Amino acid sequence: MTDTYDVIVIGGGPAGYPAAIRAGQNGLTVACIDEWKNLDGSHAFGGTCLNAGCIPSKALLESSELLYRAREEFAVHGIKLAGIEFDVAQMQKRKAGIVKASTQGILALFKAAKVVGLPGHGRLLPGREVEYTDTAGKKAVLKAKHVVLASGSVPTPLRNAALNGREIIDSWGALELGSVPKRLGVIGAGVIGLELGSVWRRLGSEVVMLEALDSFLPMADQQVSKEALRAFKKQGIDIRLGAKVSGAVAKDGAVEVSYADAKGTQTLTVDRLVVAIGRRPQTLGLLADGTGVALDARGFIQVDQECRTGVENVWAVGDCVRGPMLAHKGKEEGVMVADLIAGHHGEVNYKTVPSVIYTAPEIAWVGETEEQVKAGGRPYKTGVFPFLASGRARAMEATQGFVKLIAAIDDDEILGVHIIGPLAGELIAEAVLAMEYSASSEDLQRTIHAHPTLSEALHEAALAADKKAIDFPNR
Ligand code: FAD
Ligand code: AMP
Repeated sequence: MTDTYDVIVIGGGPAGYPAAIRAGQNGLTVACIDEWKNLDGSHAFGGTCLNAGCIPSKALLESSELLYRAREEFAVHGIKLAGIEFDVAQMQKRKAGIVKASTQGILALFKAAKVVGLPGHGRLLPGREVEYTDTAGKKAVLKAKHVVLASGSVPTPLRNAALNGREIIDSWGALELGSVPKRLGVIGAGVIGLELGSVWRRLGSEVVMLEALDSFLPMADQQVSKEALRAFKKQGIDIRLGAKVSGAVAKDGAVEVSYADAKGTQTLTVDRLVVAIGRRPQTLGLLADGTGVALDARGFIQVDQECRTGVENVWAVGDCVRGPMLAHKGKEEGVMVADLIAGHHGEVNYKTVPSVIYTAPEIAWVGETEEQVKAGGRPYKTGVFPFLASGRARAMEATQGFVKLIAAIDDDEILGVHIIGPLAGELIAEAVLAMEYSASSEDLQRTIHAHPTLSEALHEAALAADKKAIDFPNR
């Protein structure tokens, strides 16, 4: 290990490790310091996303969805399965294998890009020096021309509902359950709460979700939110809106949760309680006195549009800075910064960051919701195409949901695309690309989509915006 680098990245999650790899690809000398510790105490690169977020949650969503489909949907295809069993330990083993392959893959990527991976803690000192404490506690001071802070985020704790690693757990705990709780409470009906609630509901838990807000998924287009709420309720998830949790007490293997709703104070007893009330930036122990790096009122590292902190050659990317807490947003920021450091062009178009909720039906969107467009005052048109009218969706037994496209009336620019339905997270990529190229709804209308595919629903939604849909009556 040398002690001087062109770039030192602190944090090896999906914002930090791509920054390090791109810096290496750009011919810079680079080290990436990361302190993630798995439950067995071992170190792994990949941060929250690979170890306790995106990847393990998608692995369990896939397993539980397959079980649900085998039980509920195969019969209509004429596939009769008797005595379906499932094995939580095997599901967890498969998930652990996927996580391990993903995190170990980073080591290979680091090797190929000549990135020095340093397990342990990094602390920025004044003057672009970094104190590195290795896993044995040994300290060294490293120097860098540029430092990229990518320290990520941690779950927001709920006062009066302290995690105890057994009955009261966070999202990571909910990914590691070894058996199906009979009654599962989830505090917070946000993206993470909905995905985890869906996993355990499909595996048989009675799931109650307590959400403080009166509205459901307020950040999504409200037509989509309404459809989603209907779908989740139909699946048996008991979503209680306007239910603000004030505390939870674990006793005798169960949890008593107190919350207030319009009717007054209520209690709920569950076997396991997942606290999923959001995430907050992680900057504990990251900044020594006198670095000059500033935090905003909510604890995020302050940066400009290009992720500069304002301290010369100190940058910050990912969940520890403003913007949506999403892996792909952090990744693009990391790559942008590594390119800017190397003197190349780099930018992130924050207007086209897609959001995906990996429930069934899946939910995905890019750009503005109808509510936002309306509030902005620009005249607009919408086109909606239901999957019920898609031949491919019918063949897949996946007709729930729709694609909604919003475009400006003046120049036909696409302002937002909102999808609820099969593979929405994949379908949204076309809308992202269209918006990245400032496409009009006419551009999509004139683009040939293979038949029969789910992507035709986006094509038809674009046509519907001008009342030209072919496969569904225009309104
Ligand atoms: P992190 O992934 O949090 O990584 C930061 C890393 O830095 C960690 O390893 C941490 O230990 C390390 N670190 C922090 N401080 C220091 C220090 N001082 N020294 C050394 N190392 C340090 N996003 C999506 O886009 N899609 C999804 O499907 C999705 N699903 C999710 C599901 C769950 C259950 C959760 C919890 C999150 C999910 N997210 C998803 C969010 C996603 O995980 C985060 O947006 C993403 O991980 C942020 O990346 P990051 O690199 O900024 O931070
Ligand atoms: P997200 O930020 O998408 O992870 O969602 C977290 C959700 O938790 C938000 O919808 C919050 O409104 C909700 N929330 C936060 N605090 C509480 C609370 N005390 N009780 C119930 N819901 C809460």
